[in-house]
Amino acid sequence: MANKKWKEWQKNKLWKQEVQKWISRFKQVDDNQVEWQKVYRAYLQSDVWKEKRDQVLSRANGKCERCKAIIFDPDVHHLKYDRIGGNERLDDLMVLCFPCHRDADDERDTETDAKRADSHYQARLNGFASSKYGDAWWYDREKREVEIEFIMYLYKKYCQEYEFDFDPPLDPETDLDFIEFWNKVLNGYE
Ligand SMILES: [Zn+2]
Repeated sequence: MANKKWKEWQKNKLWKQEVQKWISRFKQVDDNQVEWQKVYRAYLQSDVWKEKRDQVLSRANGKCERCKAIIFDPDVHHLKYDRIGGNERLDDLMVLCFPCHRDADDERDTETDAKRADSHYQARLNGFASSKYGDAWWYDREKREVEIEFIMYLYKKYCQEYEFDFDPPLDPETDLDFIEFWNKVLNGYE
């Protein structure tokens, strides 16, 4: 009995080490799309993933979990990659037929891009605020006000660059120059 428990304990420990290994491999390539795909393909061959996959497959019971079609060659889709590497929760994963999987990948990738763009924007905003008000700017400044200063600073620069009139009181919802400018900001204009 003691021996059996010890074996279980050891198996469990090895498993956790495997998961840690995968998580750190994914972390190392977090900002490199090509390398990330390589790690991902290797992960799909791993025992860690196979076990996860089996759990989700038995939940789906042979059907697509989106359209309910019966499938013979099911794909397991990651709804998000936040816990990839063996810590995925079962509701991070979904069994899908091929057409549903393709749609789901498109949806997730659009979301991931948006998240990435947002974190880039936040980093630039922070850089602007720190250089103007010091590293602890958030301590005595309203984030919203500093953000407006940041946008105005960028917009002024943009107007000079493209020889538009700089007109701060315009309506950001309807002004075409501003909308164009704002799309550029979201794509990394600095
Ligand atoms: Zn389906």
